[in-house]
Amino acid sequence: MKLHMQILIALGLGIKRNWHIFFGIIAGILVGIFLHSHPSALVSTILTFVGQVFIRLIQMVVIPLVVSAIIIGITSVGDNKQLGKFGKKMVLYYGIITSAAVIIGAALALIFKPGIGAANYIAENAAAEVQASVATAMAQQQGNILNIFLGFIPSNPFHSFAYGDMVPIIVFVLIFAVALAKVGDVNRPIVSFFESVFAATMKITDWIMFLAAPGVFALTASAVSSFGIDIFASISKYLFVLFLGFLIQLFVVYPLFLKFFSKVSVAMLYSAVAEAMMVAFGTASSSATLPLTIACCEKRGISHKISSFVLPLGATLNMDGTALLQTVAVIFLAQAYGVPLEPFLVIQIALLAIVASSTCAGIPGAGLITIALILNGMGLSPEQLVAGFAFLFTIERVTDMMRTLVNVTSDTVVVAAIADNENEINYDLLNNPQSYEEIA
Ligand code: ASP
Repeated sequence: MKLHMQILIALGLGIKRNWHIFFGIIAGILVGIFLHSHPSALVSTILTFVGQVFIRLIQMVVIPLVVSAIIIGITSVGDNKQLGKFGKKMVLYYGIITSAAVIIGAALALIFKPGIGAANYIAENAAAEVQASVATAMAQQQGNILNIFLGFIPSNPFHSFAYGDMVPIIVFVLIFAVALAKVGDVNRPIVSFFESVFAATMKITDWIMFLAAPGVFALTASAVSSFGIDIFASISKYLFVLFLGFLIQLFVVYPLFLKFFSKVSVAMLYSAVAEAMMVAFGTASSSATLPLTIACCEKRGISHKISSFVLPLGATLNMDGTALLQTVAVIFLAQAYGVPLEPFLVIQIALLAIVASSTCAGIPGAGLITIALILNGMGLSPEQLVAGFAFLFTIERVTDMMRTLVNVTSDTVVVAAIADNENEINYDLLNNPQSYEEIA
């Protein structure tokens, strides 16, 4: 059977198992379209409330989960050499997948030229109120790249914990966990403590998943009601290029990657992580989806040792969907404003997109903020920058849902490949979707 058919069937099986979440997405889209043309303040308030309850509950467990997962993961690997090997492989694999994303994004944007003739459209559609806040956000992003990296080192980890700054949290926890692994047996009390924290947060994740269908429904409906479907007609070429890029990542790049670097069947993997993919789409947040991503991988054959270490890092650092969007969006604006796209500039855009995407947090809208890092060096006038940026904001949510699905899927692709290479996959379980344990 053709690979693409296998993938579709596997996704179908995943959806069948989780038909309620899938139904939530479809119903959310339909209700959102209806609400766009028949707005109701009461219904919107209720939808926002239900969606926020789900998101806040799931976000509530992210920090304890990330901290405990990384500590258990690293101390269970223990040996420095092996840890270094995992780390290098992880960076290499994430690098390959993100490079593929920017190359595909740049190639599609240059072939289809979605930005040509779009300047007037941007001027008309970049909402004035958004422009003002965009100007402030851009000003905050003016710092150079070194300052951004400096910000990753927390001078006070508790400040980062309190404000939920994921990258500094991860940097601190990584260093702390490696130190714990080094000190030997005296680490037992702390490691046992975090083992209990991890088990409890996974249990809470199970409970929260009872709310997945209504939560995803409400989030999708309120997102769709804000942009309607007319948006697809007006900037169809831009969205088409993005959508095509995401599909190529999902159905060409990841299968090839898995074939090349592992024995994992992409169809089985997608079936195993279908819930995480759907929740990623609904929440537009890799971090919020992380508890579920870990649950799907661990309950369906990928060892705890690998997933607890690789997935938290992936949810924060590996953003290939975001990198693809950033590349397409910047080329789109350059085309709209007549900036000549010399090869050197395209390479600069692609490289900066890799940096900008990996510095963005796994929360809704973060990728659009870090895009300023790329846009600042493009030679656009301040007015064009603000209008262009504001325009991207108006179509933000729909692209965010799609790119987050891609970001989360690639985290699972990389973790599966590393687990395969390390003999840390239970293939009898992974390749047998009928036996998958339910989450929730
Ligand atoms: N929402 C994305 C994520 O959580 C990040 C982005 O804004 O691109 O993966």
